[in-house]
Amino acid sequence: MNNKFWRQLLLISLLTNANAIFALELDKIELPDMGDSAGALISPAEEKQFGEAFFRSLHTQVTINQDSEIQQYIQTIGEKLVAHSDTPSYPFHFFVVLENDINAFAGPGGYIGVNSGLILMTEAESELASVMAHEIAHVTQRHLYRSYEASSRLSIPMAAATLGAILLGTQSAAAGQAAIMAIQAGSVQFQIDFTREHEAEADRVGMQTLSSSTYDPRSMPTFFERLQQSTRYSGQNVPEFLRTHPVTASRISDTRGRADNYPYKQYPDSLAYQLIKTKLQVLLSRDDHEIRAILQARLNQGLPEQHTVATYGLGLLALKMQNFAEAETIFQTLTQANPEQPHYAAALARTALEASNYKLALTRYQKLTAQFPDNDAIKLEYVGALLKTANPVAAKNLLLTTSLKTQSLPVFSELLAQIYGDLNQPAESHRYLADYYFATGETQQAILQIRLAQQIKGIAPQMVSILREKLAFLWSIVEQEHRNP
Ligand SMILES: [Zn+2]
Repeated sequence: MNNKFWRQLLLISLLTNANAIFALELDKIELPDMGDSAGALISPAEEKQFGEAFFRSLHTQVTINQDSEIQQYIQTIGEKLVAHSDTPSYPFHFFVVLENDINAFAGPGGYIGVNSGLILMTEAESELASVMAHEIAHVTQRHLYRSYEASSRLSIPMAAATLGAILLGTQSAAAGQAAIMAIQAGSVQFQIDFTREHEAEADRVGMQTLSSSTYDPRSMPTFFERLQQSTRYSGQNVPEFLRTHPVTASRISDTRGRADNYPYKQYPDSLAYQLIKTKLQVLLSRDDHEIRAILQARLNQGLPEQHTVATYGLGLLALKMQNFAEAETIFQTLTQANPEQPHYAAALARTALEASNYKLALTRYQKLTAQFPDNDAIKLEYVGALLKTANPVAAKNLLLTTSLKTQSLPVFSELLAQIYGDLNQPAESHRYLADYYFATGETQQAILQIRLAQQIKGIAPQMVSILREKLAFLWSIVEQEHRNP
């Protein structure tokens, strides 16, 4: 039977169950029994494991954004909101999924994904922040664990993959297939419910967070209204976000009423939001003539800032089409007019790099990192430039100055693997490549890399034991991924 069939069965069971659970009191819902622990509550360590398995599995199901500027932007907005949430010290992870579907989701362990389709549908940073604040509230209010039941026979990687398939609405969830089949066969209970109570609570708590983070609370009902209107015309294609977060007239009027309790004030628009949205538009565009026409039309209307943003978009398009001279002229002009804006200067450095003008690229990146020493997006691009110009030592030193958050991303291991390869340290290179494959859900590939590292002659005893431990760990994950529930 095909994937779609399983997906439909799963949806039916979700919808059926939603009504049943609706009548229950929340504190009577059984808390999940994860793993082998005797207690009913998921421990922080298990929650972290579950979140990591969820994030790894996502990489096999959808395309996760790899652009470091876009990653930094979404993480920055998320952290600004979290700082004003109920759990400011909880370790959240924010990322962009490159999918046109309008969707955002909160997985276990504070992993919050926002689809590019949703970002492109927003019209202000406050609107994007309102969706993110809502998802953060699902995590802080522990809705996932309050509404989710899994048999202890479902291993963490399997539960994570299944959850990913549900939250993403993907039908290509190869990793989740075994678990979904087990659920269908009735040998495993796996349910997650998106109840009206949870949605209302996430709206309410999210709006408080939004407001204390100096975003416009009115953005929440405004965005919900736009979402609802979009479905009116799209017929059957209900956005995934609406399947899991139904926007009803009463929900809109509730949030509208609550937003009206906040005093009216002016909220300045975010330039970074406009630039990142434009970058996504250009990167994801399949029709470069169409996007050029859109950007050129924007040049001739609106405020000076909108003109600048459209110019930036045309520069990115020129870079994408390898019209380096045009990109160079545009980013030179923008950088000179706005020397304090990292996006323009970074695009100028990138132009030199992609035009193979390496000396100039290195000079520009060096100047940029001095001007913006805490900007990891720029650092990661600079590391790439150093690797292209055979400077692995400098690349390594720079990479190790990035934040722990950045070092938890798969790209960190990927760059380290390249660095050690260039440094002629193949065992280290394979070891970090194994970390990269593991982080992106390719456990078998990770095992292969460890095997390759072990075959290298004359490796240090310490490395021998590191490799042995990693291999044992990876096999334990494979065993869990394939355990027949
Ligand atoms: Zn929700």
